[in-house]
Amino acid sequence: ERTVAEATSLAPAFVANGRRITVLLNVAGPEDLANLDPAICDGIGLVRTEFLFEAAHGLPDEETQYRVYRDILVWAQDKPVTIRTLDAGGDKQVPGLTVEGESNPFLGLRGIRLSLARPEVFRMQLRALCRAAVHGTLKVMLPMVAVPSELDRANEMLDAEFTALQAKGVACARPPLGIMVEVPAAALCAADFGAAFYSIGSNDLTQYTMAAARDIGAVADLNDTSNPAVLALIAATVEAGLKRGVEVSLCGDAAANTHLTAALLATGLTTLSVSPIAVARLKAAIAKVSS
Ligand code: PEP
Ligand code: MG
Repeated sequence: ERTVAEATSLAPAFVANGRRITVLLNVAGPEDLANLDPAICDGIGLVRTEFLFEAAHGLPDEETQYRVYRDILVWAQDKPVTIRTLDAGGDKQVPGLTVEGESNPFLGLRGIRLSLARPEVFRMQLRALCRAAVHGTLKVMLPMVAVPSELDRANEMLDAEFTALQAKGVACARPPLGIMVEVPAAALCAADFGAAFYSIGSNDLTQYTMAAARDIGAVADLNDTSNPAVLALIAATVEAGLKRGVEVSLCGDAAANTHLTAALLATGLTTLSVSPIAVARLKAAIAKVSS
């Protein structure tokens, strides 16, 4: 039986004009990396940390989180690893943490909004991330950011937790903090955010732009990342990244849809992040793009 790694070309992905396209992995849990050779990718573009909080036995403590983050960084062997802080709420309910009975959970207390409302939970995750950061090249990103002040507050909390760990003599490092661009307001004003990088969450960006929920089949036709309005917001984010000199990647499901590869690369994107199973197909699709 062939492993995913053996079936996946180890060669880096290029487009026909020689523009190097960076291919990263989306990881929903440590089991996604089992038996996988890090050589198939340029790093990890999205670690969804919700799995840590979905277990029935309550919120994970700092040590549990630290070990999981450390193991992912060690797997990556110094390639960049982007871990997303908890994105609970919306379609990802966590008992004891998310708000029950919101009239519209996708427009409610989710992602960074919930983390800022529950600072003790957020600060613990930030401490675990600072401790894990010494084991590789860690970047941290915030989900569901709508306004710059959310990033500013998170940066202050990250600074405070890092400084407190250092004062205690705990091995730690201060990872750069970026934002997911998945709210149209953030895409339209991306350059106003002091983000270390941008990662476009096309699943949410599409549903919020098209006003068509990602989990309602009856409006699936409208939930279309190739709609010109969505592509324009992606291009605007790429432009903001160029202007500020910071990386822009896309980590939503659209990155794995090879029918969209040419349209996504035409926005100027040079970094795509997909689940491990999609890497080989994506590299083949990139090689066929001629612009
Ligand atoms: C997205 O919204 O595109 C994304 C990558 O995040 P999630 O699917 O976890 O909401
Ligand atoms: Mg999202």
